[in-house]
Formats: sequence, C-alpha cells, structure tokens
Amino acid sequence: MLLRPQITLTMDGAPLANAAVRVEGNRITEIGVGLLPLAGEEVVELPGQVLLPGLINAHCHLDYTGFKGAIFSGIGFSEWIKRINAIKRSFSNEDYLAGIEKGFQMLMDGGCTTVCNIEAIPDLFPLMAKPPIRTWWFLELIDIRSRAFGEEALTGMLDFFEARHDWPGGFGLSPHAPYTASIELYRLAKHCGQELKMPFTTHIAESVEEQEMFLYGHGAMYDFLKGIGRNMEDCGQGSALSHLLEFGLLDEKCLAVHMNYIQEYDYKLLQKNPLHVVHCPRCHAYFNHARFPYERLREAGCDVSLGTDSLASNDVLDLRAEIAQFRKDYPTVSAEDCLRMVTTIPAKQIGMEGQLGVIRPGALADLVAFPLPEQTNPYLAVVAAKGRPTFFMVDGERK
Ligand SMILES: [Zn+2]
Repeated sequence: MLLRPQITLTMDGAPLANAAVRVEGNRITEIGVGLLPLAGEEVVELPGQVLLPGLINAHCHLDYTGFKGAIFSGIGFSEWIKRINAIKRSFSNEDYLAGIEKGFQMLMDGGCTTVCNIEAIPDLFPLMAKPPIRTWWFLELIDIRSRAFGEEALTGMLDFFEARHDWPGGFGLSPHAPYTASIELYRLAKHCGQELKMPFTTHIAESVEEQEMFLYGHGAMYDFLKGIGRNMEDCGQGSALSHLLEFGLLDEKCLAVHMNYIQEYDYKLLQKNPLHVVHCPRCHAYFNHARFPYERLREAGCDVSLGTDSLASNDVLDLRAEIAQFRKDYPTVSAEDCLRMVTTIPAKQIGMEGQLGVIRPGALADLVAFPLPEQTNPYLAVVAAKGRPTFFMVDGERK
C-alpha cells in the first residue's frame, strides 16, 4: 500500500512535503518523494492531510472506562481509592469488558495506536477478544493483605500471552504503588524485566498523602492503610522513591508513573539512576496536585512521556487533550516536543525505539492522519485536531 499525504511527520527528521510512504505487510518499507505505485499496489491519497506515527498512550486503565463521572473531584486521594474499590465491587465481568471495548474505541478516536494498559482483573483475559490496537498489558500486583503473586500465576500469564502471538503488543508486570505492593513484588517485576525483557510499571510519588505516609508516618493514607492491616514499618523513613532507588529496584525497564512529589535527595539519586517517567496531565489537574516537576526531572536525566490514566480521574482518553493540558503549564514546550512525548519517547520507554513512534523503513506500520489546515504548522495541526483521524492503521491493517 502506498500512502500519499501532503505532509509526513516522521518524528525522525524534518517534516516531508509530498512524500509517499510504502507499507508492506505490517512494516513501513520505503519513504520518499516521487515513489511510484508498484503493479497492483493500492494507493491511498491523503490530500490536505498530515501523516504521522500512531500515538502511544503510556498509562491507562481501560478497566475503569465505565467509571466515568462516578467520582466527583475535590476529594482526597485515599478517599478516591476507597470509592474506586466500592465501585469495583459493583461491576461484573461483562461491565468491565464493555468498558474495555469502549475505552479502546475512545483511544482510537484520538489517534492512539498503542496503549500501556494496567489490567487489575486477570480473570478477564480469557474472555477478551484480540485488542484492536497494540496493547501492552501490565498485570497489576497488590499484596497488602494477601501473599505475593506466585511463580505459578506468572507462568500461567506468560503461557496465555504466548498462545496469543497474534495480539499486537506485549505483557509486563505492574506493582501497583509502594503503598500497596511490597518490595518483593518490585523485585519480581525487576527480575522479569531483566530476564524476560519485558517492561514494568508502577505508580509512584503521586499524592501528598503518599508523601506524608512515607516521609512522616502519618496522614489520611497512613491511617487508611494501617486500618486494613498494612505493615507500616517502612513509613516515616524518607520517600518510597528513594527506598526503591537505593534497593536498585527501578531500572531502564521501569515506567515510573506520576512522580509528582519529588524530594531533593530523590533528584540526587535520579541523576545517577534516571527513570522513564509518565505524566498524566488531566489526571494531575483532576487531583489538583502541585505543579508537575517537568524541568527538574528532565534536568535529572529522566525522559517524560504522557498518558491519560483512567476515566476514574479523567473524562476523555485522548492524548491530544493531555498535550493541551500539559501546554497550559508548559507553554514553551513546542508542539513537536509534545508529540515526541506520545511517539518516540514512550516507544523508547517500552523498548520499541525505532519500531514504534517513527516513520522509517523497517518500523511497524502504525500510522494515523489528521487534516492539515492551510498555513498551519503540521505539528500544531495534529495537536489541535479535534475529530477522529482521517486515516488509521495498526500493524499494517487499516481500521
Ligand atoms: Zn494509573
């Protein structure tokens, strides 16, 4: 198939005018001005359109798509967790599956072709159809009260994904957060990351309540978790981030989500051990957190991608809306750099550098197009585009 857009944003060099992009199977094979169709090759004309790599959402919980509007903002973080747990108990597997399907559609409507999705209910896996977009399924691990995730369960999950090699994407682990997952779960995630070459992800340094719990050993989260039987010996002893870094448990396989409340000593550790950071701007605004420390994290050597988080703390699953929110706080970050936060940077974070998030020969054919109004910077046109993409392809399949 030969695609002929007006402008191609390869995210791998300057924008190309009137170039054609050839897709064969699930790969991009050629890009250039003057490429002619081969005999019998399908040609897709995209006049007045800008073509770019499909967007990558580095953090989402599709399980919670049906929770939209169920929790009002303005409550504390621990209170929000309690309400989420109450709603979870009222949902059936069918409710969750319907939400996941709807969530995929919302992601696609925003031009997203890859999602890093946390899956908290592994029982849903055997009931699911092949996902319509490239999906990294991160199995959520929590062990506040029950024993840690065992080797048997992990082997079962790996077998499950091996049998679904036609599902585009991958699998990883997600120790939920330092307040819900033990050091043993982080060890397991790191071990699997190293041995099985799979990424892992965790929520960290998200809220003031989490900060109070680990730094000072008090506060609403401390009281809540102590009340349900968590061992609180790790509280009042400095940030959880510093503990995990000092134990060497966060490495290049880890996507550290949120990173909102960072201590000076954390930055010193991050300089020696920079992390892949995922920022969720609209969720950040929902909880009214302190300003996200983008510059400090970048100075420490961390790269920052964007995610939507879930509809329990957001009302859209659209990376363009996340970029718009991010630019309210960081208007000097260019539209091009913002698009890197949803293409090349998350691709690198999940170990897919050069394969996803770029248009170049050999890369996977995940492509989207948006209208390009006359005399508009093409990067800005994508960021400001409102409707669905005018062209959408995942793994060489047009949808
Ligand atoms: Zn999350």
